[in-house]
Amino acid sequence: MKPYYNFIAGEWVQGARTLQNINPSDTADVIGEFAQANAEQAFQAVAAARQAVPAMAKMTIQARSDALDFVSRELFARREELGTLLAREEGKTLADGIGEVARASYIFRFFAGEVLHASGDLIDSVRPGVRVEVTREPIGVVSIITPWNFPIAIPAWKIAPALAFGNAVVFKPAELVPGSAWALSEIISRAGFPAGAFNLVIGKGSEIGAALIESPQVDAITFTGSVSTGKRIASQAVGRLAKLQMEMGGKNPQIILDDADLNVAVNVALQSAFFQTGQRCTASSRLIVTDGIHDRFVNALHERMQTLRIDHALKAGTDIGPVVDQSQLDQDLRYIEIGKREGARLVFGGERLQRETNGFYLQPALFTETTADMQINRDEIFGPVASVLRVKDYDEALAASNDTQFGLSAGIATTSLKYAEHFKRHAEAGMVMVNLPTAGVDYHVPFGGRKGSSYGPREQGKAAREFYTTVKTAYIG
Ligand code: ADP
Repeated sequence: MKPYYNFIAGEWVQGARTLQNINPSDTADVIGEFAQANAEQAFQAVAAARQAVPAMAKMTIQARSDALDFVSRELFARREELGTLLAREEGKTLADGIGEVARASYIFRFFAGEVLHASGDLIDSVRPGVRVEVTREPIGVVSIITPWNFPIAIPAWKIAPALAFGNAVVFKPAELVPGSAWALSEIISRAGFPAGAFNLVIGKGSEIGAALIESPQVDAITFTGSVSTGKRIASQAVGRLAKLQMEMGGKNPQIILDDADLNVAVNVALQSAFFQTGQRCTASSRLIVTDGIHDRFVNALHERMQTLRIDHALKAGTDIGPVVDQSQLDQDLRYIEIGKREGARLVFGGERLQRETNGFYLQPALFTETTADMQINRDEIFGPVASVLRVKDYDEALAASNDTQFGLSAGIATTSLKYAEHFKRHAEAGMVMVNLPTAGVDYHVPFGGRKGSSYGPREQGKAAREFYTTVKTAYIG
C-alpha cells in the first residue's frame, strides 16, 4: 500500500509506526496505512518551522498569494476526487465531501487575496514632530490541531491565514482523518513555500500534542475539538503565555415560534439536527418549540425523519452517512439510553441500522417531553440526536436557548420581525440564524462563539488577521 508519510522540513518522512484508517461506511474498506509521528518527530517539525520563519519573512506578498492561489486551484480542480476520499474517510455524503473541498478552495483563494490587502495605519502623534505607524507582523510558529468532522475545511481555514500572514506552520490532523489531511498537505508541499514553512505530523494527540503546545519555539496554537482537550491545551498554553485560539463544543438552540412557517421550521430543524450525522459543532440538538405549534411541528418533523435515507456515504441518494467510528456510535447510543432513563419520550429512531456493508449506521433520534435539566439537553452529544423542549412563549424560549454553558450558534424560526430582531440582540451566541439552520456558515465572515464554545479571537474572513498577526506600534521622531 502507498505509504502516507509525515512532512517535516520539506521532506516526506516515515513515522515511528503506521496505523490503518478504515471507512466508517464499510469497515472492510481500508483507506490507507498512515505514518504515525512520535514526539521526537513533532519536536523536529516545530524546529523546522522555527528555522523557516526568516524565509517566510522574506517571501514577498506576491509569492505568498501565488502559493495560496496554487492550492486553491488544485483543490477546486480535484474536488470530486478529494471529496470522494473525504466522504470515504469521514462518512459524510459525497455531495457534502465535494462541497467541503470546494469550500476549502474558496478559503485559500480568499486568503490569496487577503495577503495583498494587508495594511496598517499612519497616525499623527499627540506630540509635536512625531508620527506613529501601526503595522501587523507574523506571530512566528503556529501549531494547528484539528478535529475529524471537517477534515479539509477546518485545516484550510487555519492553514491558509497562518501562511498568508507569513507564519510557519505545524499541522496535526485528527487521528481519524489522516487521508484528507495528507492529500491537502501534499498539495501545499508543492505550492512554493520555503522548506519548513509547512509541516504535517500525523499521530495521536496524547503522544505528540505536548510537543506542539509546550515547545517554547511555538508562538501560537489554534485548536478545534472537544471541550476536555481544549481545557487541557489551555492550561498548558496559557501557563507559558502562548497565544491561543480555540473552538470547542456547542449545544446550539433552535427556537420554533408559533408564527413560524412550518415548512421552514421543519427544514431548518432537520438540517441542523441530523444532516452530516449531527457531527457539526454548529448542529442544533435542542429544538425549543412554543405551545401553539408544538404538536404540528413534532408530527411534521417525525414524518420527514421517516423519509431520510441513512446509508453508505458514497451511495447515490444517501441523505446521511454513518457515524464516524465505533466510539462515537457508542457515545450516541449511551446518550439515547440516558434520555430514556431521564424520562424523555423517544418518538423516533435511535437504533443501530444494518446496511449492505458493515458500517456505523444510526437512525436519527428525536426525543420529546424533555426538560432543560436533562443531561441530553445539557451535554454535547455530537450525533444525530435531538430533543424538543416545549415552552409557553418567546420569552421562555429565549431564556431556554441561553440556558447552556455553550454559545456558538443559535437559530430562530419566526415570521415576526420583532422577535427576530430581539433574538439577534439577546441570543448569547457568536452566530445567530434567522429562518436558517444553525449549521452552514460562509467562509468570508467571522466564525466563532461565546462562553464555553470558544476562546480567543474569531476565525475566518477578515477576523482571522487578529490571531495570525501581532500589532506593532512604531514612533518616528
Ligand atoms: P474530537 O474527538 O471532537 O476530534 P478531540 O478534542 O479528541 O475532539 O480531538 C481534537 C484534536 O485534538 C485531534 O487532532 C486530537 O488528536 C487532538 N488532541 C487530543 N488530545 C490532545 C492533547 N492532549 N494534546 C494535543 N492535542 C490533542
